[in-house]
Amino acid sequence: MKLRSTETFWPLKNAMKNSYPSINSDINTEILIIGGGITGALIAYKLINEGKKIVLVDRRDVCNGSTAASTALLQYEIDISLHELIKIRGLECAVDSYRNGKKAIFDLRNIIDTIKSDCKFEFRKSIYFTSLKKDIPFLKNEFECRKQHGFDVNWLEKWDLQKLGLNAVAAIESKTAAVMDPYKLAHDLLEYCQKKGMQILDRTNIISIQNLRDKSIAQTENKFTIFADHIIHCSGYESTETLAEKVVDLKSTFVITSESLPVLPTAFKNAVFWDTSSPYLYFRSTSDNRIIMGGGDEEFKDPIKRDKLLPKKEQYLLKQFHKKFPKIDFKLDYSWAGTFGETQDGLPYFGKPDPKKNEHYVLGFGGNGITFSVIGMNSILDSINDVKNQDLEYYKFGR
Ligand SMILES: Cc1cc2nc3c(=O)[nH]c(=O)nc-3n(C[C@H](O)[C@H](O)[C@H](O)COP(=O)(O)OP(=O)(O)OC[C@H]3O[C@@H](n4cnc5c(N)ncnc54)[C@H](O)[C@@H]3O)c2cc1C
Repeated sequence: MKLRSTETFWPLKNAMKNSYPSINSDINTEILIIGGGITGALIAYKLINEGKKIVLVDRRDVCNGSTAASTALLQYEIDISLHELIKIRGLECAVDSYRNGKKAIFDLRNIIDTIKSDCKFEFRKSIYFTSLKKDIPFLKNEFECRKQHGFDVNWLEKWDLQKLGLNAVAAIESKTAAVMDPYKLAHDLLEYCQKKGMQILDRTNIISIQNLRDKSIAQTENKFTIFADHIIHCSGYESTETLAEKVVDLKSTFVITSESLPVLPTAFKNAVFWDTSSPYLYFRSTSDNRIIMGGGDEEFKDPIKRDKLLPKKEQYLLKQFHKKFPKIDFKLDYSWAGTFGETQDGLPYFGKPDPKKNEHYVLGFGGNGITFSVIGMNSILDSINDVKNQDLEYYKFGR
């Protein structure tokens, strides 16, 4: 699967940070992690600190799948609003999922501080706005629901948004959100884990897995074998290649990035933005005063068709930007397209699809993929040790 078009911003900004050797002999290990993006890196971080012997492989250069395409807005608000999620998954699961997301942002901050990653993590407010009067009752409903369950939200009227230079009629302001450079953080985490003894092999493609009673045996494309007590699939959207259950609808999404602005508009210093349209538009700034905007999703995943659409999508997103923020001069610098996926209930999938096999998955799909991966970190040990865990129940396969 071609996960993204060329020229995403983060790898260009960081150049190729680290490169690792490919496999050249058979290996015996406790844990094999398949996938060296942000999810694999976070899971590795958790397990290496537990003293596990780990080998991590990636079929590409590490961090060059979806992680390189991510816009990395970190929000506890997921793609499905809280009041709707309550209807779909029940009160406890919905509220806990929103709380989990909030905690994940702080957990990530602690990890970044511990490994001293210069990934430009910054806390932001999140402004969930509408430009359509007809969406105000929906937004108000969501506001009341979040307030009722203890989330830190304010209601913003049209004139509050005008002060921010945003052309919209109402919004929910949440105090907890953040931004960062996901490519840099994933690289820094992998480097940290390597220093603690993890073996990293890139350009190493796993093509089949066989399960014996206590061992899983992974075969690489170039005919080496990795024997592991447990395999953890952190293979992102490409996990659809190995999963029997259809857990995600894959589609295409588009991103544009501006030139560095001489001065960052005040609104973008403090907040990230997203709206109630479907597919939704979202906006953030970077540490070098750029604005990143995403949206324009299409319901297909064909990468050739997707990448061909990029020039049209650039124009569409630019037009939308100028409608929403008419006073900001957005000069286009980079654009890219990526494969994206959403689950039916907007929540991730963690754990073992088949209880008889020692194969675990951590799949943080949707617009909150990164915070979901942080939540996944917190249940991976229980999945390995077969210990009951509430998150493994909420986000299990076959639900
Ligand atoms: C355009 C875009 C914008 C996004 N914006 C946000 C956002 O604002 N906030 C947010 O939280 N999330 C966002 N996401 C989602 C988020 O980026 C993803 O959830 C996250 O990057 C997934 O990371 P990952 O490590 O699971 O997957 P990946 O980064 O794709 O890593 C998986 C790795 O597994 C490897 N792999 C797969 N199969 C095999 C195999 N058989 N053998 C060896 N290696 C294999 C791949 O090469 C790949 O490197 C966005 C995604 C896109 C595309």
